[in-house]
Amino acid sequence: MKITNISTINVEEIKQITWVQVETDIGITGLGETFFGPSAVSGCIHEIFSPILIGKNPLNIEKHWKNMFDMANAFGYAGAEFRAISAIDMALWDILGKFTKQPIYNLLGGMCRDKIRTYNTAGQYGENKDSELAITDAGTLAKSLLDEGITAMKWAFTDHFADQDRGNTISDEDLKLMIKPFEDIRTQVGNKMDIANDGHGRWNLNSAIRIGKAMDKFNLLWQEELIQPINIENHIILANEITAPVCVSERLISKFQFRDYIKAGAAEIVMPDLIWTGGITETKKISILAETEQRPIAPHDMTGPVNIFACANICMNVPNAFIMETCRAFNGEKGWYKKFVDPIPSIIDGYLIAPDIPGIGTNLKPEVLSLKGTKIITSNKPGEPHWGGFESPLFKVVNEKGRKKVKPKKNL
Ligand SMILES: [Mg+2]
Repeated sequence: MKITNISTINVEEIKQITWVQVETDIGITGLGETFFGPSAVSGCIHEIFSPILIGKNPLNIEKHWKNMFDMANAFGYAGAEFRAISAIDMALWDILGKFTKQPIYNLLGGMCRDKIRTYNTAGQYGENKDSELAITDAGTLAKSLLDEGITAMKWAFTDHFADQDRGNTISDEDLKLMIKPFEDIRTQVGNKMDIANDGHGRWNLNSAIRIGKAMDKFNLLWQEELIQPINIENHIILANEITAPVCVSERLISKFQFRDYIKAGAAEIVMPDLIWTGGITETKKISILAETEQRPIAPHDMTGPVNIFACANICMNVPNAFIMETCRAFNGEKGWYKKFVDPIPSIIDGYLIAPDIPGIGTNLKPEVLSLKGTKIITSNKPGEPHWGGFESPLFKVVNEKGRKKVKPKKNL
């Protein structure tokens, strides 16, 4: 089997999503996804990675991942390069699943569970106004989630307070206002709802400690990114100062960044985002790193429908999956996922059910390709690696000058 075409697909309605389709000469197509900076992602896919993938066997996922990483890491790997790698990796796993006629979790080692608890992050789409409700009437939001069987929720309860002083200080008055939604939730539904707070990295350490302490009385599920994950020592200080587990973080890219936080005890809950941190291949490894330090993972997903399926495959497989992020404003009958993929994730009584079709578990609807405004770019020609890969022109020159020649097998 050979990769013949790699396409990036962008639609008008959801501008930051990029879908990647990897086609093969035997008619199997793999689907991947990433989010943010679509032009940059598309540039990375078509200029850097497609040339080294076209004509190769898509089943050699580890080799392709390593080759892409080596090329990206010639310039500091995180960013658009890694979003591109994540989407391609997902598509290659989808091909492997379809080729072997297995859901991806079976290829990762089988099931530890057949459903995973979800939490709902408040989003907005169409008639759904959960984000507004999270601020104005969090108790009612919690009640409506419980009515659907969803027992955990997350919102960025502190974001709008951070804007005033770039998170450098927090006044007593603002602290009181900040915890009001938590009081509302506890008043209306007691402890039936687990609550997580996402600080979106908007605070400095001093403010984060004050906020974390003020919220501790509500027994939070976790505190996520009160500070940005740029300093391991500060996360350890924060973890020692507050009771809620410190959750780190969708902003860490690859096992290399996660390793240091996990090993230092600075990530009490490990939250990789598959479409940014390196795909299914990398998230399996991050999960193992977390397991060695007896920490749970809770995959991040407030983006697109393919990511949810990728997360689901990881969560069915790894022993230390704890809970998975979903957004009812995006999923379900009134959300936007169903416009673009089929099937959509199945969430029953707050649990996401294991996808049961070969591959990642969903496909892009064919009509998406012909929607007005859809932009499709396709690469179909093999080429040389630009830089950094093991098969780069630089190595060929060295080999030709007398060093030991290592010829890669064709079509790997
Ligand atoms: Mg977050």
